[in-house]
Amino acid sequence: MSTLELLKEVRLPRWLAENKGLPRAVVIDEILQETARAVLVRVRPVVQASDHCHRCGQEITNPVSLVVGYGPECCEHIGLPRPDRVTAEEMMAAAAGLPSTEIWLPRSVLGLDRTSGFSTLDEPASPGETELSEARDFFHSVLAEA
Ligand SMILES: [Zn+2]
Repeated sequence: MSTLELLKEVRLPRWLAENKGLPRAVVIDEILQETARAVLVRVRPVVQASDHCHRCGQEITNPVSLVVGYGPECCEHIGLPRPDRVTAEEMMAAAAGLPSTEIWLPRSVLGLDRTSGFSTLDEPASPGETELSEARDFFHSVLAEA
């Protein structure tokens, strides 16, 4: 069994999450393809009770938002408009129907530690030069392999 099969949740780099309109914490549903540098996976937003938003890291106080772990604006962003739902049950039912997205992940992303959890922002607000440069290299490599 490869280590990939053990991974359920990963934390996306900011540039990739923003590029794909995903929160940074995602669940891997399926591994579709692997290359030497990257892995094609089907992911969906992590939906898990949290008092801090999985997407932006802000504190959550609304009881319906607490059950899915996204504040109101981020609920909209991931496709779970909250004003439509007034109970936790309705919210969880809607979350179960969230579509998954296929994305290429650099293998380095899959090697990131998961021990820090998803509830706080642990990186600077804007990507550094190194992160941007890694992003460019990655997209070029994926385009070259496709
Ligand atoms: Zn948020």
